[in-house]
Amino acid sequence: MPKIDEMLHDVTARLKRAAETAGRSPETVALVAVSKTRPASALADAYRAGQRRFGENYLQEALDKQAALRELADIEWHFIGPIQSNKTRAIAEQFDWVHSIDREKIARRLSEQRPADRGPLQVCLQVNLDGEISKSGVALGDLPSLARAVAALPHLTLRGLMAIPAPRENVNDQRAVLARLRQALSELKALKLADDQGQPPPLDTLSMGMSADLEAAIAEGATMVRVGTDIFGARETGQDTL
Ligand SMILES: *Cc1c(COP(=O)(O)O)cnc(C)c1O
Repeated sequence: MPKIDEMLHDVTARLKRAAETAGRSPETVALVAVSKTRPASALADAYRAGQRRFGENYLQEALDKQAALRELADIEWHFIGPIQSNKTRAIAEQFDWVHSIDREKIARRLSEQRPADRGPLQVCLQVNLDGEISKSGVALGDLPSLARAVAALPHLTLRGLMAIPAPRENVNDQRAVLARLRQALSELKALKLADDQGQPPPLDTLSMGMSADLEAAIAEGATMVRVGTDIFGARETGQDTL
């Protein structure tokens, strides 16, 4: 199997090509390396190859790796998995970003539990683009009220939206579903949301695109892509409860 630095290099080249094809600057697309189920040594390899943003789905596993990699102080940690309410404190304390907020109760707890000295937690709302097929994510119809509530929380900064669409083979089909997330973000911008100081939230982030739909996502305006398999290799089946 190719080494992590080579795979990371290939993904970065794909990202750059996709951005250029879309007439976008590659710097407008951030790469989150999704490291769930990988040992700390794999993250350290990616770090040595220049990667700084890592996405984790399972809290205890993530905390263990954060402890192991403590000396790599400039890692930016992204929580991208489902969130149970008894896990919010550790997430609020140990992560820089959370992509997977789909309930106001979870957002409220993260805001209350965010340590004052860490600055606001950067958050995205996870949207369910597939209706019945998927359980996680807020329905598009409920997004405006959730966004209004989250934008107003004092220790969160509402950055944008995240989605994990059901897999589609064809690039045009991938683009069609991802376009709905782009559309949803522009509709949120039109709502004139306000934070607790009366300022508009940034709403500058579309977290979409994984190994299989990276190009489609960048064509539809992704500003953060989350790539696991194509950086670290295939995950063992049974370990992945996505
Ligand atoms: C696992 C995971 C990814 C990465 O998926 P790959 O297909 O391995 O690139 C991205 N986002 C989320 C939320 C995930 O759980």
